[in-house]
Amino acid sequence: MHPLIIGGGLAGCAAAIDLARSGLRPCLIERNPDPHDKICGEFLSGEAVAALAGLGVDPRALGAVPITRVELWAGRRQASAALPFPALSLSRRVLDAELVAKSASLVTAFHSGVAANRISGDRVHTSGGELRASAILLATGKHDLRGLPRPPGPDQIGFKQYFAAPALHRQLAGTVRVVFFDGGYAGLQPVEGGRLNLCLLADGPLYRGLGSWPALLALLLREPGLAALADAQPLLAKPLAISRVPYGHLAGPAGDGLWRLGDQAAVIPSFCGDGMGIALESGRLAARMLAAGASADDYQAALLARARRPVRLAMAALRLAETRLGRLLALTGLAAIPGALGLMARMTRVADPNALAPAG
Ligand SMILES: Cc1cc2nc3c(=O)[nH]c(=O)nc-3n(C[C@H](O)[C@H](O)[C@H](O)COP(=O)(O)OP(=O)(O)OC[C@H]3O[C@@H](n4cnc5c(N)ncnc54)[C@H](O)[C@@H]3O)c2cc1C
Repeated sequence: MHPLIIGGGLAGCAAAIDLARSGLRPCLIERNPDPHDKICGEFLSGEAVAALAGLGVDPRALGAVPITRVELWAGRRQASAALPFPALSLSRRVLDAELVAKSASLVTAFHSGVAANRISGDRVHTSGGELRASAILLATGKHDLRGLPRPPGPDQIGFKQYFAAPALHRQLAGTVRVVFFDGGYAGLQPVEGGRLNLCLLADGPLYRGLGSWPALLALLLREPGLAALADAQPLLAKPLAISRVPYGHLAGPAGDGLWRLGDQAAVIPSFCGDGMGIALESGRLAARMLAAGASADDYQAALLARARRPVRLAMAALRLAETRLGRLLALTGLAAIPGALGLMARMTRVADPNALAPAG
């Protein structure tokens, strides 16, 4: 029997590649048969870039563009700083396809277009039949398997749309712009192919009150940090959307023998741009610990010890940004104290990849 990874996203593929390298060639199942767009701001933090390098993936060779600065906007107020690490921006369609191709070439079996429905003991019931495994790694991202729900997230809806806006693309070269508004926040950054990625979270009541994406976009265009998008050409027929992301979720040892990776293990607020880094690192850590003979609970405890502080700090920052006064104070402080924004960015990372190695 082999280990079985459910979900061929970032966490699942990272685990697949490292497990295969350690000689424990796993099986991988992924329900989507083809590369596709995913809801994500597509900001690759320094940690994510380092983790990808460790997996033999160079985002620059895939067309990633550099991101060196962060701008925070709240109304007309803004603070900006150089990022304390080199970051990149690459579409998930391209990145995930590369990771899937690499994983597929290394694993014992890659079941593409097959969905897991349920886990019982060492068996996974899938749309293609039953599979048995020596260990089960749950890497289904935002999708929960039957009987394994994460706590529901806040009443918020996430959206992502690509835009063509050549002048704004040039103006934002190297910059990720985060715009806080009443009822949510948005990230805007260039990605490969001359496109801009607008990815945002809006409170459910705000969105339902407005009633449609065009109405929400019209509201966003009144924000000084987003107004330049008014002449931009949307590139997706309709935006991708997701609701109730369980921000702040942290899985600990559960005693059920499951190895929870990526968003199944820890969900950090999106504005930190570190979800992908955590996903990749959790996959790599799980592979190392499984190969070393550790238990699923040992792994969950090790991951929790690293992820707890950045996730909680990011949640506290998010709560501050939810009120006008909080945003005012935060931006005034960040603009006045040199290095404060860089420090904040550093403190919401799961530290450097090697720090995730199991002790001993
Ligand atoms: C609005 C928003 C913006 C974000 N922006 C950023 C950002 O800019 N930078 C950043 O680092 N992070 C960002 N994130 C977070 C990041 O996208 C996630 O943390 C990351 O994708 C998690 O990786 P994963 O491998 O756990 O899940 P995923 O990448 O979602 O992969 C899960 C995979 O499992 C497959 N799957 C699901 N269910 C099944 C099943 N039953 N059977 C088989 N396969 C299944 C799916 O098809 C998918 O391929 C953002 C998140 C949101 C919601």
